[in-house]
Amino acid sequence: MQRHQQQAAHLPTASSIIALHTDEMTSATASQISQSQTLDAQVEQEQACYDCLRRHAAAAAASVSSGDQQQQQQQQLLLLREEHIDYLTRRLRNLPASFSGLDASQAWLAYWSVHALYLLGEDLDDDIAASLADLLSTMQCPTTGGFGGGPHQVAHLAVTYAAVNCLCILGRLDLVDKPAMSSWLSSLHQTDGSYRMQVDGETDVRGVYCAVSVARLLNLPEFDSLFEGTAEWVGRCQTYEGGFGGVPGSEAHGGYAYCAFAALKLLNRTDACDCRRLLRWAATRQMRFEGGFQGRTNKLVDSCYSFWLSALFPALQSSLPPRLATLAEGAWLFDQERLQCYVLACCQKRTGGLFDKPPGSPDPYHCCYSLSGLSIAQHYLSGSDDRPEQSSVLLTGERYNQLRMTCPLHNIGLEFLPTGCGLSSSSAAPSASPDVNIVLDADTGFDTDLKAKESS
Ligand SMILES: [Zn+2]
Repeated sequence: MQRHQQQAAHLPTASSIIALHTDEMTSATASQISQSQTLDAQVEQEQACYDCLRRHAAAAAASVSSGDQQQQQQQQLLLLREEHIDYLTRRLRNLPASFSGLDASQAWLAYWSVHALYLLGEDLDDDIAASLADLLSTMQCPTTGGFGGGPHQVAHLAVTYAAVNCLCILGRLDLVDKPAMSSWLSSLHQTDGSYRMQVDGETDVRGVYCAVSVARLLNLPEFDSLFEGTAEWVGRCQTYEGGFGGVPGSEAHGGYAYCAFAALKLLNRTDACDCRRLLRWAATRQMRFEGGFQGRTNKLVDSCYSFWLSALFPALQSSLPPRLATLAEGAWLFDQERLQCYVLACCQKRTGGLFDKPPGSPDPYHCCYSLSGLSIAQHYLSGSDDRPEQSSVLLTGERYNQLRMTCPLHNIGLEFLPTGCGLSSSSAAPSASPDVNIVLDADTGFDTDLKAKESS
């Protein structure tokens, strides 16, 4: 693959970013606070991220003094594209024995790898694409209609979501038995609007999101009846903090918050929650020092939340009223540059693959979601309803780092969204639908009175 050597107009170097981080780190580490395990772990994590940045800065400084321009370019925060492609392709062809415990996650492994490769600009060989589609088609249970994690396994909503997403990317949704799928989803729908993950399984907001996403992509004709009462149940999962828990009354969590709000967006029912509190909660999950996101209050940074949290912003910003258009113009309401810096400097293994936090070991899950978050942070979708491909790009590092765009609501390439799936670009990109009111504080610039209200 050819590397683009063209430089972006503004290229933050590891040295300039580390200077920014050093000021902030001293407030946490110089005082040597050691009052709890949580604080100790946080200080340790900041040190690990600091070490990653320092290595980049030192290497960049050495290459400047050597005067080697090619080496200098390579010392910028660089996406290890070819190494990640190699890591993911190897796992698509032949999984190591250590993955045997993930036998019930075969559909997930396929989706994570295929989507990550797409983001990296790598198209699958025809033979791999055909055998993956064949394998996935054998996972739809002929008696129930849902997909299992592997052939002849019990149908489950999470792997059904992964299998349908993967088949959508492969252009083979024709392999899904839609009437059987609709009937199976109906059997999981509870009278209070919630969804079980499988027959007699647990109920949580992941089930709702997976069901809504699958039903939208397959354009199931029974959509309205399948989700009666669902938006109201999801709204009850929003917590006092503003995020969403898995079920009503549980702790706010980045993964559940994504599932809840993406589901409400796909149901066209964001009026069922308080967007003001969700926006505030999501914005405060980005770690001040590390630049990545944490999944819950007082937890450590983790690269998978680069997607689960950042993808909330396109969905939330599309609800901003016109008078706030300038606030959301040209950039998402989180620090896109710092998030890219975290993924590029702290989460890449030199030999390929991405992990959650340093020091770590790579896995396909974190490859998929850290790259998906990187894609959201790089692209601002500003297109109109009929021009969803319009975007502006904010890159940290070389243009070579640029990924393909992902849909914030389904997390597949925008180009794969079937026509008639119920998602217009207005659901994924900023628009002017005034379903929230925001009053900005004159001093802080932060909203003090953002109220969700019924869309008229
Ligand atoms: Zn993670």
